[in-house]
Amino acid sequence: MRPSVRPDLARLSGYHSAQVDVEVRLNTNESPYGPPGAWRTEVAAAVAGLDLNRYPDREARALREAIARLHGVSVEQVFCANGSNEVLQSLLLAYGGPGRSVAVFEPTYQLHAHIARVTGTGVAVGRRTDDHALDLGEVAQVLAHAEPVVTFLCSPNNPTGRAEPPDVVDAVAALAPGLLVVDEAYGQFARSSALERVRHEDPEDAATVVVRTFSKTWSMAGVRLGYLVGPPEVVEACEAVVLPYHLDAVKQVAGRLALDHVEEMEERVSLLVEERGRIADVLGGLPVDTWPSEANFLLFRPRGRSAAVVWQGLVDRSVLVRDCSTWPGLSGCLRVTVGTREENDRFLEALEACLR
Ligand SMILES: *Cc1c(COP(=O)(O)O)cnc(C)c1O
Repeated sequence: MRPSVRPDLARLSGYHSAQVDVEVRLNTNESPYGPPGAWRTEVAAAVAGLDLNRYPDREARALREAIARLHGVSVEQVFCANGSNEVLQSLLLAYGGPGRSVAVFEPTYQLHAHIARVTGTGVAVGRRTDDHALDLGEVAQVLAHAEPVVTFLCSPNNPTGRAEPPDVVDAVAALAPGLLVVDEAYGQFARSSALERVRHEDPEDAATVVVRTFSKTWSMAGVRLGYLVGPPEVVEACEAVVLPYHLDAVKQVAGRLALDHVEEMEERVSLLVEERGRIADVLGGLPVDTWPSEANFLLFRPRGRSAAVVWQGLVDRSVLVRDCSTWPGLSGCLRVTVGTREENDRFLEALEACLR
């Protein structure tokens, strides 16, 4: 007889975004722009000179040094992995497991709870307000009850777009009994960052860990590279659970060279922020509810119409957005990624037609 999978995994399904063949793909929060041309050339040249018969630098020293310089921290405070999702998984392999739990506040990024469950870690779920804000009373209650080893925040929050103000992050850090992990996959689009908390640790508070990715602002989703910035002992714990040589030599070079192009990345961020404002203005005049976003996407809820019907109407016009309507606390909601100006126009025209 063949073995069955772990009973606690049998209930889980994988995390997927519908992939439909359309002209305008605004469903996975990627950058609409390819990486800079100069970076491509530099990577090709650097890869040509690599000794690919040898294992890569296990410590990914050069890459971690470049990231440390970017954020004004020491190299011992940086851990890299194959996408920030692998960073999150490493954190939970090190700190989670049976008998331990994490706390999440929904609606939020579903992978935090999913990766926790895959690693056998319990999940305590708190709710946000109707406006998707954190309710500190609720946070205090959930944390006191569950005593989680990791408290997750996502700021700006996927899929709502809301960024947590620094005083709210400070308040959660003061309440959290273990690690406070702030997922800043969209951090470059926001006005504030919890990196400040990592640079100036308060020994009274939970240790803060900031997780970032090259997938979104760096236009490198295909490269699979993410990292955390946190206390050195957290970095050591992650290094202890990760597979040997998990970060290949090509990726190490690609990530390090990307950091020579900070200005181009920032220009792209400004363009997308401008376009985000333009989309928000148009949505404001349509029969939809929307929420302020500090990320490269916007959440909206068609009034008096089913999200599924509007989603299909958009697909029929060759525009793909994310249907979040079955996610906890988001009934009726869709999420659109900010694309190029032309893509955004296509989306707005299609949406107006669907709502007419
Ligand atoms: C997209 C996203 C990530 C990125 O994951 P990668 O594995 O780095 O591609 C992480 N966290 C959040 C909240 C995201 O939306």
